[in-house]
Amino acid sequence: MEFPKDIRFQCQRCSRCCRHTELRGRKILLSDPDILRIEKNLSLKRAEFAETIEGCYPFAFLMKMVDEKCVFLEEDKTCKIYELRPLICRCYPFWIEREGDLFVFKATPDCPGLGKGNKIGEKYFRDLLSQAVEVYQQINWKESET
Ligand code: SF4
Repeated sequence: MEFPKDIRFQCQRCSRCCRHTELRGRKILLSDPDILRIEKNLSLKRAEFAETIEGCYPFAFLMKMVDEKCVFLEEDKTCKIYELRPLICRCYPFWIEREGDLFVFKATPDCPGLGKGNKIGEKYFRDLLSQAVEVYQQINWKESET
């Protein structure tokens, strides 16, 4: 595992990660386990909140946006499915790339929470990685398909 060193992060609850911004269009990618967890717990059909997407393996779905915002974002900027939120949202403002045997965490410059709060270190990234590995095991992510 590789992760950014000496980095601070504290979420500012601005909800930029839940919407398109002037810097980039936000793509909230979902895996099969994300879809199944939301469907099961909220008695929703996937077509109500996601659409299929190709070329983003291991993710196979894209969260629907309404008025350029995640379909689950509330008016007060809270997440309607916070406890059930997709892996990609739990990792934000970081994402994980697989480089050979390594899982490499990268950070987006679009998050105002970076550089604020306490330093985050290895434990923070290990916790995220263990959640990601659990998902990847469920979908049997094969290096050859990345
Ligand atoms: S963009 Fe960053 S600071 Fe803003 S809500 Fe998302 S994680 Fe928090």
